[in-house]
Amino acid sequence: MAKHLFIPKLVNGPYNDNALLLSLFGKSYSYLVDAGDISKLSNRDILKINRIFISHTHMDHFYGFDRILRTLLGKPKILQVYGPKNIIKNVHGKLNGYTWNLVDNYSEDFIVECFEIYNNKMKRAIFSCKKKFKIENLPDIEIKQNIIYKEDGHTVKGLILEHRTPSVAYIFEEDFMINIIKEQLDLLKLPQGRWITDFKTKIFQNKLKDKILLNGKSYSVAALKERVATITEGHKITYITDILFSKKNIDKLKKHIKNTSLLFIEACFLNIERDRARERYHLTAKQAGYIAKISKAKKIKFFHISPIHLNDYTSIKNELFEMLK
Ligand SMILES: [Zn+2]
Ligand SMILES: [Zn+2]
Repeated sequence: MAKHLFIPKLVNGPYNDNALLLSLFGKSYSYLVDAGDISKLSNRDILKINRIFISHTHMDHFYGFDRILRTLLGKPKILQVYGPKNIIKNVHGKLNGYTWNLVDNYSEDFIVECFEIYNNKMKRAIFSCKKKFKIENLPDIEIKQNIIYKEDGHTVKGLILEHRTPSVAYIFEEDFMINIIKEQLDLLKLPQGRWITDFKTKIFQNKLKDKILLNGKSYSVAALKERVATITEGHKITYITDILFSKKNIDKLKKHIKNTSLLFIEACFLNIERDRARERYHLTAKQAGYIAKISKAKKIKFFHISPIHLNDYTSIKNELFEMLK
């Protein structure tokens, strides 16, 4: 019964514009990393999204935002958008692209809360639908160790990298992993079900003295943890796209991406085109392989392959994985 918190799904194949959906086990919300081509997502998928993490706002990573806006409009919801320098301006620009003369009559408010990530702080602004998406700037938030978001059970880091414009690599880290031992449940005649999610949440919140009522009997979280759960290392998902292979970028990555469980990484060009890759501030498959090696990733998914390599999928793959031998 080992279930990790994050359930990642690349929305498209490796040649389409970036979008990674991260569902969260047992949660009613999900995350989207980059909003490129999201045409394959259902409205139901989109209604669940409550945080969007944008690497940068080159069009291929951001045009999907309009569909999200369209789907969430009129819903009582706060959508958080994270991104690099100018993300507030860019979100504002998108919102300014439409006419909002009737929205003050909506009964429910839809709010976009925007976080602009720097090395040590985030700028913040909100846009409320009922106020016709007029910008409201809020005080900056100081950040430490690149942690841009944290809640019980997981942490999100954002690393600012160079792509001739800042491009953010995101790291999603589960605090730890709680495994439920089914045999122990059977032995204690405890049912499976919804209580397990609440139980796990309480462990993440360190509320070990709380009680859980099962079969008419009250158990402390600590006692249950002792008897039916084992704790192991959490999953770490790293997402890297649109970056220059430079010493500065690599040094920064080295500090943060070690022991990745699952790496999502761009592999735009082949090694023979490394000059072209440098000019465009993108990675070759070989460079992506080098980064994968640093990350010690157990699993690697590559994407954002240049359309000029439509027939070179195997070469890209071989070049990347050659680095891991
Ligand atoms: Zn791109
Ligand atoms: Zn780009």
